[in-house]
Amino acid sequence: PNSFHEFKLVLLGASAAGKSSIVLRFCKGEFFENQEATIGAAFLTQSVPFDDYVVKLQIWDTAGQERYHSLAPMYYRGSAAAIVVFDVTDRNSFETSKKWVKELITEVSKDILVIVVGNKVDLEHKRSVQIEEAEEYTKEKGLIYIETSAKTGLGISELFKLIAKRLTEF
Ligand code: GDP
Ligand code: MG
Repeated sequence: PNSFHEFKLVLLGASAAGKSSIVLRFCKGEFFENQEATIGAAFLTQSVPFDDYVVKLQIWDTAGQERYHSLAPMYYRGSAAAIVVFDVTDRNSFETSKKWVKELITEVSKDILVIVVGNKVDLEHKRSVQIEEAEEYTKEKGLIYIETSAKTGLGISELFKLIAKRLTEF
């Protein structure tokens, strides 16, 4: 690698949507059925290698609980990208993700890459938000939509690779 890029990235979304699990799968290759709820926010770094450079991501994994909402701007301001996560089996979490998108667009839209992630696709039999609906919503907002499973690992490396690639192209 002959050049080095470093970016701040934040995860937002409803409590229990799988934010911490996505980060843990990406950074450590692990998954826990009883993942502990995040207090405040957690910080991890991970590098994404490309052919001739490396992208280092500084990842802020926020708590989804409403009582921590006022802290969120501290994490998304100055972030190059935001991953807004919802759980495809939980319609309320999809509605919550729309609120986050709205807040990001209002507060920092010009400066941030927003990706919406539908997580827990391993629970296809329990799905309550269809891919078409999520795609229609994100297309209308001009955002990228990706589906993942932190449990099986489906889509996780693709998600971070896509973000790293987009950020270096900005
Ligand atoms: P957070 O509050 O958004 O950080 O969510 P967590 O990462 O703490 O996950 C909440 C719960 O959902 C935990 O019990 C996880 O094991 C579970 N979980 C997270 N991602 C997945 C997934 O992709 N599939 C399944 N089946 N469960 C998941
Ligand atoms: Mg968490």
